[in-house]
Amino acid sequence: MTGGHVVELKRNRTRAVKIGSITIGAGHPIAAQSMTATHTQDVAATVEQANALHAAGAGVVRIAVDSKKDAAALPAIRAGTPANLAIDLQENYRLAVDVAPHVDKLRYNPGHLYHHEPTKPWQEKVKFIAGVAADHDCALRVGVNCGSVDPAKKEQFDPEDSIGPMLASALEHCELLDSIGFTRYAVSLKDSDPRKVIDVNRRFAAERPDVPLHLGVTEAGMPPDGIIKTRIAFEQLISRGIGDTVRVSLTVPNVDKPQEIAAANQILADIAAGRVRSVVDYGLASLNIISCPSCSRVENEAFIDLAKQVKAMTDYARDHAITIAVMGCRVNGPGETDDADLGLWCGPTHVNLKKKSVELGAFPYDEILPRLRAELDTLIAERA
Ligand code: SF4
Repeated sequence: MTGGHVVELKRNRTRAVKIGSITIGAGHPIAAQSMTATHTQDVAATVEQANALHAAGAGVVRIAVDSKKDAAALPAIRAGTPANLAIDLQENYRLAVDVAPHVDKLRYNPGHLYHHEPTKPWQEKVKFIAGVAADHDCALRVGVNCGSVDPAKKEQFDPEDSIGPMLASALEHCELLDSIGFTRYAVSLKDSDPRKVIDVNRRFAAERPDVPLHLGVTEAGMPPDGIIKTRIAFEQLISRGIGDTVRVSLTVPNVDKPQEIAAANQILADIAAGRVRSVVDYGLASLNIISCPSCSRVENEAFIDLAKQVKAMTDYARDHAITIAVMGCRVNGPGETDDADLGLWCGPTHVNLKKKSVELGAFPYDEILPRLRAELDTLIAERA
């Protein structure tokens, strides 16, 4: 890991949404969430997992409830764990009545509301869910998922445009909830493609900067790839103030579920310290030095020291809005530095230097700093 300089993260001014003992939004710390993978009716196993996630630092633990039998297990689960609990309402939205007394948050998917009672308008169903949530002191999440968007919404968009229907669906649900005076909700817009997650959440936040966002990449897969995909999306969103709670979804054995919380908290800490794998612009009018969090691919141990030295050497330019990226290897370094004003990526014996996407050459480790300084001076002069 490279030494931390703390980045003053700007956060969108979202509403405060209380979920049990925590509050998300309004500048509160970004909460990591996870989900139990046990059979919900196996109360002992579910309680054990909820407690393990809670102990790992989960702000909210979600439990799958698909039937009245699952719902019947909730009072005993509630009694066995201090975790803040959330459940997903699947197609049977009326199950809200059975679960809400025992949990802190209900999640519904707008794309699932048309299955049951198809002639009933979705607006009536949302009003029902919000009414139950309000009666039982629960928050709501409007969870829009790329794989299950309301077909009526899809029809209004080009079949190639998967973002448009998700965004429109989320926005109209927010509008309805606001119109009935229910504002204790967050929104999630998830996809398995991190680029789409970035795009749809940025567009949503531009329209509704007041609504707290729950970020996640679906079907991210196994570590380390699943963590990397999610990390890229979170880096690009959280660095720009978007996101109030996060889930890293990983394909791991049940006992390893707390890894989701550890991964989420590591990513959040890295973003706050400028340790990032993609080039991020924190939107600040000051020098932005980012360095990858390092991994087994690092080509030379000197990378860690180099990142620290770059930070110290460039301090004189702290008031210039310039991004310098320091990456540890040739696998990701060449591509990931393209968006930085000046980029360095490390090889076994040399450090490669770039100005935007233009390569300036490879320099021995003991020559790179003066060379970087010369380029930085030139850049400052060009922009003066
Ligand atoms: S840039 Fe290379 S060394 Fe750094 S985290 Fe990415 S893959 Fe690992």
